[in-house]
Amino acid sequence: MPDAGENIHTTDVIIVGAGPVGLFAVFELGLLGLQAHVVDIMDKVGGQCAELYPEKAILDIPSRMSITGAQLVSDLMAQIAPFKTTMHLGEMATSLTKLESGKWRLTTDAGTVIEAAVICIAGGGGSFTPKKPKIEGIEAFEGKSVFYSVRKMESFRGKNVMIAGGGDSALDWTVNLNPVVGGMSLVHRRNEFRGMQATVDQMYALVKAGKVNLQIADTVRLNGTNGQVESVTLKNAEKGEYNVACDAFLPFYGLTMKLGPIADWGINLDSNKIPVNTENFETNVKGIFCIGDMCDYPGKLKLILSGFHESALMAHGSFHYAKPNQKLRFEHTTSSSSIQAKLGVTS
Ligand SMILES: Cc1cc2nc3c(=O)[nH]c(=O)nc-3n(C[C@H](O)[C@H](O)[C@H](O)COP(=O)(O)OP(=O)(O)OC[C@H]3O[C@@H](n4cnc5c(N)ncnc54)[C@H](O)[C@@H]3O)c2cc1C
Repeated sequence: MPDAGENIHTTDVIIVGAGPVGLFAVFELGLLGLQAHVVDIMDKVGGQCAELYPEKAILDIPSRMSITGAQLVSDLMAQIAPFKTTMHLGEMATSLTKLESGKWRLTTDAGTVIEAAVICIAGGGGSFTPKKPKIEGIEAFEGKSVFYSVRKMESFRGKNVMIAGGGDSALDWTVNLNPVVGGMSLVHRRNEFRGMQATVDQMYALVKAGKVNLQIADTVRLNGTNGQVESVTLKNAEKGEYNVACDAFLPFYGLTMKLGPIADWGINLDSNKIPVNTENFETNVKGIFCIGDMCDYPGKLKLILSGFHESALMAHGSFHYAKPNQKLRFEHTTSSSSIQAKLGVTS
């Protein structure tokens, strides 16, 4: 239970997952006059399109001959802009309880509490979860001086930070956090980086300027007490084992997708997928819907366009939970002046 006086958000529908399908669900709900809050563990919207293939061309979005993952996400954000949706990014939807009022209360790992009549799970392949380095005893430091994401840059102000990894996240945070920290090392096992060339160049420029201490080495162990890291032992062929001082260690070794806490919400599961009916994409639990890659039904295709269709039917199915005293009228965007007003356009 939240403490008395704690800020509880209320909305019509809580969407878990800001992938392409969760974003389009905001639009379909908005057309019916339903407000949504969106929660995603990622610090950016777009799900797989943004994380796994932002620069690849998608060739099967209706009416788009070719569109990159990043551009699709950007267009979806522009399309939902009129609805001024609240996004809770960098937060994992963890627990779900049913209230006496019949509404749902969702809590995130950051302590955000949201109440709504409807839950729409658009969790895709699952929550993106960091791959952890194989360093014995690292758990004792996690959340105190070892972090797998940067939720607030300010919390690293003045700190002596060591970043580990050679991909986009490691390089992006090396560049972005650099102006804030008191000192910075970057450790990677190879002298080759997998990030965008422009970011690799920025990183090398910081090394040249003496602002990043680049170490080509393996990470061996963390040294420190009471969860506070004081140095990291590194190892390479040239120096053997040696220590580099730091007071925060940020390993960015990539992400895997896991179903996560959704598995504990009392919804029927079948091989980590959520069975739904194809009339409105509701699960076996009344008021909880599932769309996109995470839902399952006979003939399901894991395609973005399937998720868009599922969003429209989910929105119609949600309406009578969110607005029990109102009648839902089916309208086309081309001819509905009320929809056009919601979108701020005139026909
Ligand atoms: C390389 C590649 C190429 C592809 N090419 C195509 C293509 O050409 N055409 C096509 O149609 N499809 C393509 N796909 C598939 C397409 O990307 C997926 O169908 C689509 O991303 C599914 O969207 P979604 O919104 O359901 O899920 P996702 O994109 O997986 O987004 C789900 C989001 O939910 C979040 N989430 C999950 N659980 C939680 C939780 N508990 N708390 C907080 N957040 C949570 C995740 O972090 C994630 O951001 C491709 C996929 C890949 C990997």
